[in-house]
Amino acid sequence: MTEAVTVALRVRPLVKSEVQRGCRVAVQRAAPGMPQVAVNRTDYFTYNHVFDSDDTQQGIYDSCVQPKLLRLLNGFNVTILAYGQTGSGKTYTMGTGFDGIMDEHAGLIPRAVNEIFQQMMAMSQNVEYKVTCSFVELYQEQFFDLFSRKKREDSTVDMREDKNGVFLLGLTELNVHAAKEVTDQLMRGSSGRAVAATAMNETSSRSHAIFTLTIVATTKGNEDKTVTTSKFNFVDLAGSERCSKTLACGDRFKEGVNINKGLLALGNVITVLGSNQGTGYVPYRQSKLTRLLQDSLGGNSVTVMIVCVSPADYNVPETLSTLRYADRAL
Ligand code: ADP
Ligand code: MG
Repeated sequence: MTEAVTVALRVRPLVKSEVQRGCRVAVQRAAPGMPQVAVNRTDYFTYNHVFDSDDTQQGIYDSCVQPKLLRLLNGFNVTILAYGQTGSGKTYTMGTGFDGIMDEHAGLIPRAVNEIFQQMMAMSQNVEYKVTCSFVELYQEQFFDLFSRKKREDSTVDMREDKNGVFLLGLTELNVHAAKEVTDQLMRGSSGRAVAATAMNETSSRSHAIFTLTIVATTKGNEDKTVTTSKFNFVDLAGSERCSKTLACGDRFKEGVNINKGLLALGNVITVLGSNQGTGYVPYRQSKLTRLLQDSLGGNSVTVMIVCVSPADYNVPETLSTLRYADRAL
């Protein structure tokens, strides 16, 4: 496998509702220190990293995200994706629903944002940084600007393409100067998402949320000025559960089809990127999700897919399908 894609599996602890229902742990690390997981001690899967209920947010940040910051600040794009069924811990892991409290539960986004600003500060004698951030939700192949001040229904943005690539026309790009400013905006954007979800009597489980930090670095000094742009994308993907389990037919059918389109296309892209040839045709154009992320997946970009699963016996069929999807990436 190439360096381009890293796959980390995270098995969360049993949650209270699973304990109350009498669920047992069916998914666990196969052997101490090995990046291998066992399901019912009959099916085994190996990834680049395996984390279980003993692993902390800090530990996952330190192994999967922190080592990529150097690349980011050297002008490369970095994408962190969270994949898994609804309730498996994607939002918890990413910190998309950050509540403003920087404690042990804080997820990857606020941790990364804090450290990026620290590192930029340390470099500020030699490099000038301009940072902007955006936050969009992709629901039924339609983008919603989560930083828009407009009403939800008026906050849609269209995808366009020019010679520089794909972009979202009119998307709010906030200028930010400090970590706290970013995390405050993140909180505002995610609460907007939650309110919209409740108003439509839906959960956010059927949409992808994409939080992007764009860093433009200009070296100081008169000669040989260089300007580099890099993007840090955090993608809290839609729930990966199969249509048949959660979505009834009828109205919901279209949603299922569209969501699967993004996840399916992402799986296809990652399969090609992870394959040793690395030269094959990469099917970015199959969905809006992969088109939007095209310049941040593959090429010189760094991609980390964090695959989240429940440990519960009750979820084993869904967990196996998640583990197989992630297996294709390696
Ligand atoms: P998803 O975004 O995949 O639907 P959530 O992140 O909302 O799932 O997680 C579902 C529930 O499980 C939440 O109550 C969350 O706090 C809890 N949870 C998820 N991962 C962990 C973890 N590693 N440790 C403790 N609680 C967790
Ligand atoms: Mg979620």
